[in-house]
Amino acid sequence: MGPHLILLGPPASGKGTQGRRLSGLLGLSYLSTGALLREAVENGTSAGKEAEPILERGGYVPDELIATIMDPWLETHREGWVLDGFPRTIGQDEFLQQWLAGHEQRIDAAIWLTAPKNDLVERVRVRVECPDCRWSGRQSDLVDGGCCPKCCGVAGPRKDDNLENFLSRFDEFSLHTMPVIERYAAGEILVTCDATLPIDEVTALLFETVKEIIRNGQTA
Ligand code: AMP
Repeated sequence: MGPHLILLGPPASGKGTQGRRLSGLLGLSYLSTGALLREAVENGTSAGKEAEPILERGGYVPDELIATIMDPWLETHREGWVLDGFPRTIGQDEFLQQWLAGHEQRIDAAIWLTAPKNDLVERVRVRVECPDCRWSGRQSDLVDGGCCPKCCGVAGPRKDDNLENFLSRFDEFSLHTMPVIERYAAGEILVTCDATLPIDEVTALLFETVKEIIRNGQTA
């Protein structure tokens, strides 16, 4: 069974970029609860309708809603995964731990991407996302006057990427997600990574670290 990895960090710390790369390199499934919620909003599903006003104000959606999304996903992706942005609260961690214990699995490593708040503000200012393939990068990465470099969808800023919304998401992270990170540190599964390093360097560091964890036979 492949490793079970968690990717956590404040908004714009690079969770999506690194999560996609790491899962690709390791042949693991990848899930971003944030991307899934944005998709649900765009598709107008009932989960999307509940999430929309919360995403608009930069809050965290309720644990119950996240559990409804995560339960079927975990059931159908048992081999090994990278979870980007889940669990973000102690309640969500309890849910995940219970699910994993019931399936004789555990988290192998939780990666915390760190960056100073000012750097993140700047990243949010220039960040764009493709609504078709969910590629995310900088405005300057776009090709042909606004096309996604991966699939040529019409990429643009995320609806929630304004300063006010970022500050709110940052506060939610400090208040609700830092305790989860502290819990993983206490459980000795936390890997801290400086997310201000060049993108390729972060990927290489994470890849080496996870390979080491796999080599040590720590995966369950
Ligand atoms: P992200 O794409 O990770 O930046 O997430 C975008 C937004 O989706 C967050 O600001 C939250 O409103 C919501 N969200 C994503 N994942 C979670 C989660 N695990 N718990 C609560 N809210 C979430």
